[in-house]
Amino acid sequence: MRLVMKFGGASIADGEKIKWVAELINRYRDHELVVVTSALKNVTDHLLEQADMVTDAGDLESVRELIGHLRGIHYRAANIAIDDEITLNQVLGELDSRICKLEQALTGICYLGELTPRSSDYISSYGELLSAPILSGALRSIGIPSTHLTGGEAGIITNSEYGEAKPLGGTNERIRESLLPLIRECVPVVTGFIAEDASGIPTTLGRGGSDFSASLIGDAIDADEIWFWKEVSGIMTADPEIVPDARNIPLISYIEVMELSYFGAKVLHPRAIEPAIRNDLPVRVLNTFDPDFTGTLVVKDQEQGKEVVKAVTVIENIALVNISGAGMVGTIGVAARVFGALADAGVNITMISQGSSEANISIVVEGSHLNIAADAIRSEFRNGVIRELTMNPDVSAIAVVGAGMVGIPGIAARVFTAMGDAGINVIMISQGSSEHNISCVVQSDDAERAVRALHHEFGLGLPRS
Ligand code: ASP
Ligand code: MG
Repeated sequence: MRLVMKFGGASIADGEKIKWVAELINRYRDHELVVVTSALKNVTDHLLEQADMVTDAGDLESVRELIGHLRGIHYRAANIAIDDEITLNQVLGELDSRICKLEQALTGICYLGELTPRSSDYISSYGELLSAPILSGALRSIGIPSTHLTGGEAGIITNSEYGEAKPLGGTNERIRESLLPLIRECVPVVTGFIAEDASGIPTTLGRGGSDFSASLIGDAIDADEIWFWKEVSGIMTADPEIVPDARNIPLISYIEVMELSYFGAKVLHPRAIEPAIRNDLPVRVLNTFDPDFTGTLVVKDQEQGKEVVKAVTVIENIALVNISGAGMVGTIGVAARVFGALADAGVNITMISQGSSEANISIVVEGSHLNIAADAIRSEFRNGVIRELTMNPDVSAIAVVGAGMVGIPGIAARVFTAMGDAGINVIMISQGSSEHNISCVVQSDDAERAVRALHHEFGLGLPRS
């Protein structure tokens, strides 16, 4: 088989884990493999936070501290993951030269006091630029021929939309040209998340974008399957930290995974598997630390089974804006003006609901956008129409997801009865016309209880028959 295997940051969090991952890859040596790797756990977050800090504070001492910290964790990981001395020295040399370049870039932004999206991409790309040589070295040190490549070297060429770059046409051909000759000879380890634009400037595919890299590569090289190795047992019916009896979902459709990703489940990057699904490539989500477990298989379509609801998720850090006023009733264009104003202010809208009386519109936005959203609406309607604008910053959205809900009556009733029985006040409800999810907004304090109540109501914790 030809397989693309992607390892997330938690799977390669330190030297021991990287060593384990190399052994795991070794099990599949008889196949043609491409490995896609994330940064070591938390490194991307840390790079981005520190880059902001350095820009604001303009203080070279914090650059030195950050570099010292990164050098420490990557050296330590390499020392543990790579037994063979020659390989280890090679890898340490590569890490060193990359860390020097990063230090120069950070020093630059420190002096300039300005972090552009382009430099932010450059800096955040170092998470993967430092992890890939270690994983590739760990493979060589156990006798697997391997080399490492950046996403750009592997052929992923994007536009210059830094932070959220999109692949350009021709990427598939380039990936094939660069990887197909390699996979016959060795296991290439490709940095996830990062790519480059047509002029060779580093870009990134958006946070969590390594999944997307894997899927682009799988599609281009016509892989038989794409395996996402995570630290959890596949895709679960709910977050096990909230619902202790959450279970693995063995089979799920692409559309359901998309809904889950949009609604806060950190399973796969929402755009991640689109290239795979377009070409009908089976995608598996597996557990690095329980590799014999079958995990979750994601397929394009799934026949409607008896499970109407597959999973319950929650999005935190959202906020509600409520607009009301008798002047809105029957006035054409109010909603358009609201959405226009929010779009102009760069506010992302998560959910919308309007009562049929038309005297009220409720909008859910990201928590960090709340004040911008409120200001934008106030300024758009400074001459009236809207009588009152209220905000609630402490809400969460709960979504019940399952393609099996389509056309089955009574699901919404069960959702609201379960919430009522648990004494939870539902602030707003919404169902997309796809009928693949029903979502509702509750006070954040009630969110976890709501997830547990719904998980129980739909029997998701029970053993499957
Ligand atoms: N390292 C990147 C991030 O943390 C990409 C990824 O892990 O998928 O967002
Ligand atoms: Mg990640």
